This record gives sequence, C-alpha cells and structure tokens, in this order.
Amino acid sequence: IKKIGVFTSGGDSPGMNAAIRSVVRTCAYLNVECVGIYWGYQGMIKGDFKLMNARSVHNIINKGGTILKTARCEEFRTKEGRKKAYDQLQAAGIDAFVVIGGDGSFTGAMIFNQEFGFPVIGIPGTIDNDIFGTTFTLGFDTALNTVVEAIDKIRDTASSHNRLFFVEVMGRDVGHIALNAGVGAGAEEILIPEENLGRERLLESLKRSRSSGKSSSIVIVAEGDKTGKNIFELKEYVEANFPDYEVRVSVLGHMQRGGAPSCYDRVLASRMGVRAVEALLEGKTNLMVGVQDNQLILTPINKAIKGHTKIDKELIRVSEIMST
Ligand code: ADP
Repeated sequence: IKKIGVFTSGGDSPGMNAAIRSVVRTCAYLNVECVGIYWGYQGMIKGDFKLMNARSVHNIINKGGTILKTARCEEFRTKEGRKKAYDQLQAAGIDAFVVIGGDGSFTGAMIFNQEFGFPVIGIPGTIDNDIFGTTFTLGFDTALNTVVEAIDKIRDTASSHNRLFFVEVMGRDVGHIALNAGVGAGAEEILIPEENLGRERLLESLKRSRSSGKSSSIVIVAEGDKTGKNIFELKEYVEANFPDYEVRVSVLGHMQRGGAPSCYDRVLASRMGVRAVEALLEGKTNLMVGVQDNQLILTPINKAIKGHTKIDKELIRVSEIMST
C-alpha cells in the first residue's frame, strides 16, 4: 500500500479532526502518501482529493467538526455511484482508505470492499456511542461533558424557581449519553429506550421525591425514549397529573455534537488513527478499530454494524440509588 485516503462521513463528532491528524501523521511517519477526501463518499465520487502532509493537519487537534467536511451521499448507495468512486480512487493512485464515521458509513465501506476488494478500515466517530466493538466512540466523552455543563446551568434555574425540568439529550435509539450524563449531572430521573418503566412510575417517583423535600428536579430524557410520545407530551402528562410542579422542557440539540474535543477523545483519536494505518499496512481490511479495557482491538465491520451495544446495568443501579 502506497497511498491511503482518509475521510469523514455521516454525522460529525468532536475528535474527528484529531483522528484525521493521526492518520495523516502516521502515514508521514511510515513514508506512505496520504490523501484527504473531502465531503465523504460525495467527494470520492467527484474526485475531491487533496494530498496531505504532516503540516496539513497542524492546529486541528483541538477543533470540533471536521476539516475534511462530511456529507450524506445517496449516489454511493448505487452500484454505479460506487464504480465512479472506485475509478476516481484508481486515477488518483489511492489504494486503501480509512473511513471515520458511523454505521451507515461503515456499511458503505464494507459493500465497497466486497465489490472491488478495496482495503478499508473504519474509525468509529459518533457522539451516540452506539457502535458494537468499542466501549467508546470518538465524540462520546466530549458530548457527555457538554451535556453535563448544560445541565449544571439548567439546574441553577430549576432550583431558583422550584421547577421540574425535562432535558432531552441525543443518542438516537440508545441511552448511553442520557445515562452517563444523567449520573454525572445528578439527575433525578433518567429515561432511556433500553428501559421503559412507564409514565405512572415516573409520576410516582416525582411525587415521592417532592414529598421527601425536593423542591426542584431534573429529568433526563434520551431522544429515543418512549415513555411519552415525545418530551412535550410527557411534560403535559406530568403537569396534568401533578399540578403543583411547574414543568419546563429543554431540548439540547446540536450543541451536543460540537465543541473542542475532550482530552480523552483526542488521545483515543490519536491511538485509533495510528492503529488504522498500521492495520492497512499489515494487509488487514474490512475491520473497525475499537477500544476495550483500554486496549485497541479490531472488529470485523459487519459485526460492528450488526451488533448492539449494551446499556451499563451497573450504572442504571447507581443512578437509582443516587435518586433516593
Ligand atoms: P453514519 O455514518 O453517521 O451512520 P449515514 O447513515 O448517513 O451516517 O451514512 C453515511 C453515508 O454512508 C450515506 O450517506 C451513504 O453515502 C453511505 N451509506 C450508508 N449506508 C449505505 C449502504 N447500505 N450502501 C452504500 N452506502 C451507504
């Protein structure tokens, strides 16, 4: 392998730049050429490439987002689209790539690998932490810190006004952000899709804590949670059945995807980038780099896509005990 392409694809997450930097610098260190592919699969089809050297990636380790930009690309879902991408890579002399993204991006890479025998390695970049084969995805730790900081601020208002706040956090159909940030921010209740205990129980629990002397509360709701039809409907339900509480809703939204990556995400990105390039040079392909027990591991991409992450049961227990 003489020339490795690197790109980001799908949703962005903090730490993607640190991963790009690591791939580029590892290539420079090992005397392999490295090409940045802009706009994910879209740019691959168009040939939007730029040769990168160690200096191309200075001052980005601390930046959120992705300097290579990211996109969703319908054309890559077609055989013709992927053929165009392959021809562009061939013309540029790129003979392997590292894709930084989520399960959709990995699915595209896997199909591409099967069709053309093209070597691919994935690095998991998403704040949702919903990828099998790694305990942490890039951006998850940063998002937790962002959410905790936001909830700390909401808490000031909640306690000044004796209010109940429902705070919606991201996570698609998993509750990792909600559970971890909820424990970290000292939330009263954490509603996650993995554990639907029903709204009657929520109401009882809120009433119990009110009568135990709590005057304000914060309930974290994962976006994929099904306790209510949505967070606003849940608010109406609680207000209707528990009139002595003033309820407010805060949907944190895209702020959770941005910001400077945490030290943990920068370190993890640096490690994963090195491993990804090394794996390609060792002749490995169709694998995702992950971390488990603080060791880097490689998981077949098809397993990473199909497998489900498990919610941390011990942490659920801790959160229950903490809301006594
Ligand atoms: P993420 O990588 O964050 O999960 P998406 O699901 O939007 O994001 O996927 C990113 C891109 O990966 C898509 O826009 C598409 O170009 C490519 N992709 C996703 N699924 C497939 C598929 N089944 N076949 C080919 N390409 C795919």
